[in-house]
Amino acid sequence: MPDVRNIVIIGSGPAGFTAGIYAARGNLEPLILEGEGMGVEIPGGQLMLTTDVENYPGFPEGVQGPELMDLLRKQAQRFGAECIQKYATKVDFSKRPFVVEYNEKTVQAKAVIICTGASARWLGIEGDFMGRGVSTCATCDGAFYREQHVVITGGGDSAMEEATFLTKFASRVTVVHRREELRASKIMQDRARKNERIDFLWNKTIKQYLGEPSKLTGVLLEDTKSGETAEFACDGVFLAIGHVPNTEVFKGQIDLDDAGYILPTKHTATNVEGVFAGGDVVDTRYRQAITAAAMGCEAAIDAERWLEAQE
Ligand code: NAP
Repeated sequence: MPDVRNIVIIGSGPAGFTAGIYAARGNLEPLILEGEGMGVEIPGGQLMLTTDVENYPGFPEGVQGPELMDLLRKQAQRFGAECIQKYATKVDFSKRPFVVEYNEKTVQAKAVIICTGASARWLGIEGDFMGRGVSTCATCDGAFYREQHVVITGGGDSAMEEATFLTKFASRVTVVHRREELRASKIMQDRARKNERIDFLWNKTIKQYLGEPSKLTGVLLEDTKSGETAEFACDGVFLAIGHVPNTEVFKGQIDLDDAGYILPTKHTATNVEGVFAGGDVVDTRYRQAITAAAMGCEAAIDAERWLEAQE
């Protein structure tokens, strides 16, 4: 391994691996710090927690999320990207070359591309129920609820997709949403609304979990209009209420917005010259696998041009 890397890419997912493909094809021998997976054994970002991806161009029959990530990783490796399945635990962007720590090791980099994505948001009331009766991953935990009644909260595409997926196992899926209108795209809404195993509870939020961890018996729901509360029996709860950017390690090192997303300056550049970012870690608008991949490509091209300009 060279003492100083041309490019270290932090994060996998469509953005990180696509940045890796472009940087590797540019002979920059990138190192990709993939992370360690989010509740699954192999990293690769949010698509590791998905089943069918039907809207990634080039796959007319759809592709499984983990399979797509495996293909992207192999494509980056084919051109010489080195992949390490560890989290970056600390960065120092005040030094040149930059310093990135992982697994009690340190790597130096002339340029860094951040593609750390975002993680599922929790309600903040989970306590001991986190991962024990309450889950953020239907793909991972749905099979535990065979012939049972589960609640899923959220009104976006993830909630609709996961509600539909959960009907493969659960006998009844109740979508709890805080408004009367879904945020999800029409096609996803229609699919869920047509599913006889799915019903909807409008204007409700979960205030409390009932029962014991691993033996959840229900939730306390609050009506967002009247403020009234009532117990609602169920066997498990799935959360699909959006994501928070994975930028903890960059706090104080680069400019972030109030929600923690990286603030790009021009194209994929950040306020630290030589540090670039792409994918869900900057994107609050599109948040699609294909847009993340495109931003990873852009970040690699920007980093390559910046490195050339330094020489
Ligand atoms: P999202 O679109 O941000 O939706 C989050 C949902 O959770 C919203 O309905 C929101 O309610 C609700 N919510 C947020 N905080 C809450 C809280 N504290 N309590 C209760 N409810 C809360 O997130 P997403 O569904 O994960 O989707 C993210 C992006 O990925 C979107 O662009 C989506 O299109 C995309 N996506 C695409 C696919 C696909 O095409 N196959 C699948 C999944 C996701 P409000 O509506 O009231 O704000």
